Amino acid sequence: MSASDNIQVPVPAVRSKPLIIRHLPYFIGAAVLVALAGSMGFDGYVLNILLQATTFSIAVFGLSVVLGLCGQINLAQATFFGFGAYAVGLGTADLHLSFWPCLVGGCMIALIAGAFLGMSTLRLGGHYLAMVTISFQQIVTLVMINAIWLTHGPDGVSNITRPELFQSSQSYLAFCVAVLAIVGYLVWHLPDTKLGRSMRAVRDNELAAGVNGIDVFRTKIYAFGICALLGGLAGGLFAGGFAYVSPDQFSFAESIGFLTMSLLGGVASPVGSVIGTGLLILIPEWLRFLKSVPGLYLAIYGLFVILIIRFMPDGIWGFVSDAFTRWRAHTKAPPVAAALQLKPATSGGDIVLKVTGLTKHFGGLKAVDGVDIAVKRGGVHALIGPNGSGKTTTLNVLSGLYKATAGKIVLDGTDITNMAPHQRTAAGLGRTFQNIRLFRSMTALENVEIGAERPGNTMIGKGEDALTERAMEALTFVGLGNRANELISSFSYGHQRLIEIARALAANPTLLLLDEPAAGLNSTEKLELHELLKRIAAQGLTILIIDHDMTLVSEAAQHITVLNFGRRIADGESMAVLRHPDVVSAYLGSE
Ligand code: ADP
Ligand code: MG
Repeated sequence: MSASDNIQVPVPAVRSKPLIIRHLPYFIGAAVLVALAGSMGFDGYVLNILLQATTFSIAVFGLSVVLGLCGQINLAQATFFGFGAYAVGLGTADLHLSFWPCLVGGCMIALIAGAFLGMSTLRLGGHYLAMVTISFQQIVTLVMINAIWLTHGPDGVSNITRPELFQSSQSYLAFCVAVLAIVGYLVWHLPDTKLGRSMRAVRDNELAAGVNGIDVFRTKIYAFGICALLGGLAGGLFAGGFAYVSPDQFSFAESIGFLTMSLLGGVASPVGSVIGTGLLILIPEWLRFLKSVPGLYLAIYGLFVILIIRFMPDGIWGFVSDAFTRWRAHTKAPPVAAALQLKPATSGGDIVLKVTGLTKHFGGLKAVDGVDIAVKRGGVHALIGPNGSGKTTTLNVLSGLYKATAGKIVLDGTDITNMAPHQRTAAGLGRTFQNIRLFRSMTALENVEIGAERPGNTMIGKGEDALTERAMEALTFVGLGNRANELISSFSYGHQRLIEIARALAANPTLLLLDEPAAGLNSTEKLELHELLKRIAAQGLTILIIDHDMTLVSEAAQHITVLNFGRRIADGESMAVLRHPDVVSAYLGSE
């Protein structure tokens, strides 16, 4: 594909209609549901089931945020549900407060407890996080049972009151459905906000999220906090609905119940939460007639859950929406993009990156050992060396994935030596990985949008449309604009590399680090890559590239630094370096 194919005539951006107008059908549908819930004249049994399904769904929304969006496990959602329920229960029954302040208080307690638990544990990953949330759950259950002076112990709290406005069960159900609709709307749109995109990036690939400017730890805490908050809200509503709460309603088994609802319906979406919750509450009711045969009911119930999870690993809604995404990728044409503009920031100096005495030891191994590199502004600088010579390690220390043992890194006049990866990205560093690290559950466009969202990117305007425009420009620049809406898994290896480059370019970095971009490409793809590098350099963006392909390196780079066993063995103008006897012997052996 030639450059002229990629660069299309700029067209005036089409602004989409305001959100509220686009989503009017949703609000009309929700209003109809609320009206139905308030007027259908259900009997007490049906009312109870609906009330339970509604409040539980809100708690399960929380799991769809923390687990579905952000990939963090929370096995204590019943605890947060309990905080909300006990706040409303004890507040209205014992302290005779009105319902509203108790509900808000319950939400706050849950939020604070969630954020606190998150802050103390989210640096741990996977299994450890699961263990800690289980312990937290057990401790809170013990307190609920044993702190009788506060919680009334196993007897539970009765005589819980509802707000004046919704005294009848029917009107209270309508109120809960309205809350469900509003919270569902917010959770549904969360993935398309900056925070939501950050969460998905963290779930898909924490390392890549960090070097694309995302504060991974903070994002996880937000997800955990939102999950806990929704648990608290749901619990408060539940307590108001049933007027009685007791510790067994908030046990570990209930947390597992919430998790099963979430996984069954589809953890990635609030629609899945509602489907899963509805099913897990309704199936036992449907199977009630089997209760005469002991065990049969549980066996059928279990079989049903296993079948769904076996054949729809992403849950019921995941199955449906995946089919829809694939269909849309082929039917919905991506918008036409203008030509990508790169305007690398500059403090005026001649040197963009100055690395002095950079050292990285892994135990006794000196992977990088006192390396100096000075990258001149506006050129292509290559870092080469035999396998294991410390090139990738150098890049990882530069981008902050490893902490330097010693040395100093100055990017365009700013000392970034001690910054976290996302701060270095904000300071203007962009990179790609030797082993491609894309956000695999997202489309190409969404991947590049995350790059474009870099804090401090001066090349995008405000709002979602500007973000999409910038991402489309970057994708078009690498020649993949027409496939923007496809999922990463449908791209070839070579194209995935191009998407990674587009993601870095969209951020308008000051310096672009490329780790073996030609590895695994066939000869046509290599030519395309070479041509792409030229077009990037032509816009004045400085590139530091690692590659094995000597043809590519000698043609593209003006300056070469050579590493061997972690030490710099040559540095200078390309042709001279490639003829340097030490370099020749490092590559070909001294014989
Ligand atoms: P290159 O990219 O030049 O092929 P690397 O930077 O990947 O080389 O590796 C340099 C040396 O550091 C190798 O000996 C490698 O085994 C070692 N190394 C790289 N990463 C780690 C790590 N995380 N822990 C321990 N040793 C590492
Ligand atoms: Mg390497």
